Amino acid sequence: MSGIVKKESFKTERLVIIGLGLIGGSLACALQKARAEGRVSITTIVGCNRSLEGLKSAQKNGLIDEFNTNAAEAVKDADIVILGVPVLSIRPTLELIRDHLKPGAIVSDVGSVKQPVVDDMRELLSDANVHCVPAHPIAGSEQSGVTAAQVDLFNNRKVILAPINGSSPESIEQIDLMWRATGAELFQMDVSEHDRVLAATSHLPHLLAFSLVDTLANQDQGWDVFKYAAGGFRDFSRIAASDPQMWHDIFLSNRDAVVEALDLFSSDLAKLRQNLLDEDGESMIEVFKRAKAARDHFAQQFQKTGSDVE
Ligand code: NAP
Repeated sequence: MSGIVKKESFKTERLVIIGLGLIGGSLACALQKARAEGRVSITTIVGCNRSLEGLKSAQKNGLIDEFNTNAAEAVKDADIVILGVPVLSIRPTLELIRDHLKPGAIVSDVGSVKQPVVDDMRELLSDANVHCVPAHPIAGSEQSGVTAAQVDLFNNRKVILAPINGSSPESIEQIDLMWRATGAELFQMDVSEHDRVLAATSHLPHLLAFSLVDTLANQDQGWDVFKYAAGGFRDFSRIAASDPQMWHDIFLSNRDAVVEALDLFSSDLAKLRQNLLDEDGESMIEVFKRAKAARDHFAQQFQKTGSDVE
């Protein structure tokens, strides 16, 4: 992962966000704030969802200037198109818009898995005379929809760029500057490394949380378990309230890396189970000590960079 240092401010005319939900809406909100403060110059921010409801309230609340429920129409004069839709909706959305993009437009996304997006953009947009700069903001929450948008969601958080070969340095810089205006810190990362790292640090914990909460909820006294749950369980189980469809898309799109992380974890968990059966407290304490030291170290790093621990 390498840091990028840039100084210019973000300027564009027409920016279209297809998929104005938690992430797309938070991006719109942060850019409107930057615009109001004179830190960026954007003529028009357009939101595009399939349903009207969220779009109307987003316009009323000043997140977007215009909206459209037709993605092909929405992108016609766009200088920048950001895809904020669930990962498995990215390919169908690219198919919808590819013949309607303005020559020279920049197409980016916010998807949590990068390899399939990079592959789809390469395959579907190679003849479209546009620049592709896939991206992933490492920020979010278990909530979804534009009503959950937060103006400071990306402040002090990391955004990973995975530009496609052939994308101009200017287009990479544009997407870099756009995210920088939200308060984010920008990095470029190899696509397969991105998907492997995120499988371990984000996708696996979500899978475990969904599985644990489901197991407990299916027990006879499931609801009593939750009633007497303490802070630790509440913190860990929070992410099991995340959107099922979004996570279905993420797990299936990053299947191999998630299975690899799951196998490694399962093997270590099996060792811990055996330690417990054998009443081998010494080995258990060794594991706990190593985990505590690693967690304390990361917490310090996060404090230094001002990032939250998620
Ligand atoms: P979200 O709140 O559910 O928003 C998704 C939006 O996309 C909705 O407004 C939805 O509106 C729209 N949409 C869905 N399918 C569409 C389609 N085919 N065409 C046009 N619009 C469509 O989801 P999110 O949490 O913002 O996540 C969006 C993306 O960000 C995902 O790719 C996810 O992997 C990534 N991401 C999420 C997080 C997180 O913590 N949530 C963090 C980083 C990255 P309609 O249904 O009305 O169309």
